Amino acid sequence: MWAVLAIGCYQLIPESPWWKGAWQIGIGYGAVTAVLLGARRFSGGARVPWWCFAFGLFANTSGIAVAIYSSEVLHVDEPPTPADPLFLLLYPACAAGLALLIKRREPRRNWAAMVDAGTFTTGLGLLAWVYVIGPAVLSDETRLLGAVVQIAYPIGDLLLLAMLTRLVRSGGARGAAFWWIIGSGSAFFVGDATWVVLGNLGIDINGVQIANRSVDMIFLVAYSLFGLAALHPSARDLDRAAVRPAPRLSTPMLTSLTVASLIAPALLGIQLYAGTPINGPAIVLGSTVLFLLVVLRMAQLLREVQRQADLVRTLSRQDELTRLPNRRAWNDELPRALENARRDDVPVSIAMIDLDHFKKFNDRYGHPAGDRLLTDAAEAWRSVLRQVDILARYGGEEFIVLLPGASTGEALRILQRALEVTPLGQTFSAGLARWDGSESSGELTARADAALYQAKAAGRRQVMVAAAPHGADALPRSDDHEPAADLSVLASSGPLQ
Ligand code: GH3
Ligand code: MG
Ligand code: MG
Repeated sequence: MWAVLAIGCYQLIPESPWWKGAWQIGIGYGAVTAVLLGARRFSGGARVPWWCFAFGLFANTSGIAVAIYSSEVLHVDEPPTPADPLFLLLYPACAAGLALLIKRREPRRNWAAMVDAGTFTTGLGLLAWVYVIGPAVLSDETRLLGAVVQIAYPIGDLLLLAMLTRLVRSGGARGAAFWWIIGSGSAFFVGDATWVVLGNLGIDINGVQIANRSVDMIFLVAYSLFGLAALHPSARDLDRAAVRPAPRLSTPMLTSLTVASLIAPALLGIQLYAGTPINGPAIVLGSTVLFLLVVLRMAQLLREVQRQADLVRTLSRQDELTRLPNRRAWNDELPRALENARRDDVPVSIAMIDLDHFKKFNDRYGHPAGDRLLTDAAEAWRSVLRQVDILARYGGEEFIVLLPGASTGEALRILQRALEVTPLGQTFSAGLARWDGSESSGELTARADAALYQAKAAGRRQVMVAAAPHGADALPRSDDHEPAADLSVLASSGPLQ
């Protein structure tokens, strides 16, 4: 409220450089005091960005005092004046403060935000070159020091703009303090740009009291917003490391980036149309950099999309608990395995495995212990399977295993070993089916499932070999005649021969 009142009254004070200067300095030093007071609430490193801001504001405000003294007392108006270095200190100091703040908010480098900041800075930098920096550099009238100072302002603004964009694109808290800092930096930028635009259009507002004071007020708003940001409770969260990720590219941000990238061709068009000399090298360089930045951004986005697609693919094919391939992955894998077996003319079997009385285990030891058993069992079974075998979680406490190249006898031996290593004395029943060379993967799975059902019915803790499919036209192989092996018996009578 005080800030609004003080800024509003600026239009009412007497028209005298001393009055106006005093008013501006009052508000400026008020803001410095507010920033320092606000910073006192923070500890250690969190204070440093605010000290940078306070220093920048202090230097800039002091510049006003020096400017009035040099023009009113020393009658030095020709730039550069001794006030310019003080005015200019605002930019590096605030940029350093913003950089420190960003570093604390985002300890990891955010390349996307940096490219976005680069795009804005390059687009507006090209504008600044064509309308401000270039003319100052190339003009024979301005003296060297004058030119340097004239160039330093737009460069300072570009620096500020780059840091502001970087801050806007950073992750982390976005309370009032966040937006007030953005607002303050933008106000400095708009204030400077207003002078440049007015100068380029040849409009002199020095005689027009209300216009002149309105432009001054933009800077008063900039000072005040910094002070308010520092005092606001949300300033505390400003430098907290981001927990939420950087925001997505919003439509306004995308639009702004597009406009910034179009500055180069637009400038060329304007200069062609107006018939003025064309800033060829600057436009070529500017558009090249802009193109590269856009391509870089596109590459970043594509890489991110690719990374996420890979992640989604992995997650969609993996069981969350046991990290085994899930049913979806299995359904993809089985037809492929059958195709390979057909091509290489080798046997392939699958076994459906179901833990015995798992519900009881859950009821007795609890669901988390049940989960652990599933994970441990999967790991134990995998350790006795061969490299080529594929174990997948079919659902619940049902697993399925692909045994390529194994005869039924070999497959039974492998399953016997698996039964022996099942943790915590638990057991499973399994249905083993050997592919007949022609049936579909669905039919094969159904036979394994039916055999599993038989194994359960026959008392559990055993492997049943599925009967050959009805009406199978494939010739039965010799070991298809093997009887169903009851592993509860085999386990006590030693390993299978
Ligand atoms: P059977 O010997 O006939 O197979 O008996 P069972 O108790 O093992 O079979 P049932 O189908 O009656 O129960 C399966 C149990 O498996 C019920 C369910 O709570 C449990 N289960 C399924 N998925 C999970 C899981 O991911 N974690 C845990 N802890 N339990 C699960
Ligand atoms: Mg079970
Ligand atoms: Mg089951």
